[in-house]
Amino acid sequence: MYIDCHMHLAAGWSSPEQVEQLVAEYRQVVDHVWLLAVDGPYCLGNSAVLAAAQAHPDFFIPFALLDFTHPVEQINNYRDAGFRGLKVLSAGGPLGSEQALPYYREAERLGMPVVLHTGSVPAPVPGLPGLGVSDDYHPVELERIAQACPHLHMVALHGGGFCWREALIAAHAAPNLFLCLGDFDSREGMCLDNLAGWDLLGLLQERIVAGLDYPFAAQLCGAPEPFTPSAFVLPAVDKLRLLATRLTQRLGVAWRDAVMSENARRFEQRTGLHP
Ligand SMILES: [Zn+2]
Repeated sequence: MYIDCHMHLAAGWSSPEQVEQLVAEYRQVVDHVWLLAVDGPYCLGNSAVLAAAQAHPDFFIPFALLDFTHPVEQINNYRDAGFRGLKVLSAGGPLGSEQALPYYREAERLGMPVVLHTGSVPAPVPGLPGLGVSDDYHPVELERIAQACPHLHMVALHGGGFCWREALIAAHAAPNLFLCLGDFDSREGMCLDNLAGWDLLGLLQERIVAGLDYPFAAQLCGAPEPFTPSAFVLPAVDKLRLLATRLTQRLGVAWRDAVMSENARRFEQRTGLHP
């Protein structure tokens, strides 16, 4: 059974009945998922994520959206409320800026792992035509965070995206940094075709995990852009199976098992995320 380390709740697809249906579908191939709060036009934030996790505690591990415009104390409150980790979509500037570091230090102190959007400008953002590269999201920012917080456990979502080579190098330098692979069809992102030819990859075989980024999973199989709500209901389970098949074909069964479940379990054991 797989572990999906990158999932959201789609706006408009989040009633208790719909969540029930989603869980039932995912359970065909997935043991549990990391459910990440984001606030935006397409996905739901902290309260909805926590409610879903409370309704399905064995299936959803809830991550609270970190708000860098609010005091650091929020992190303790999230932990008390039942969140197990933190999600960073935007730090209001470079991910590893001086202003952002106190938040990571607090997460480190409380033992809460942090997953961070990396590579591109997060999408979809109203008024933004596409996924552009932003200096704020360069994976080297995570290396900087790791230097300030050597005991903080982090996952680079999208594996650095367009900057996937930089993400591999950052992870090589930061032993507590994992990379999340999901965009496996993209020509430019961290995809399997790119990875298979990269020397450093072998060093990181134990630190690459998988996450579909549901409901944006639609993008993985050539769904039309821009994203539309109708694209959200494409079956995620089929895409997880497809990712597993491609991993097997390109890198072998051991890699498939490592990326689809074993590495996430290792991260969860290290962090107490899912004892
Ligand atoms: Zn996402």
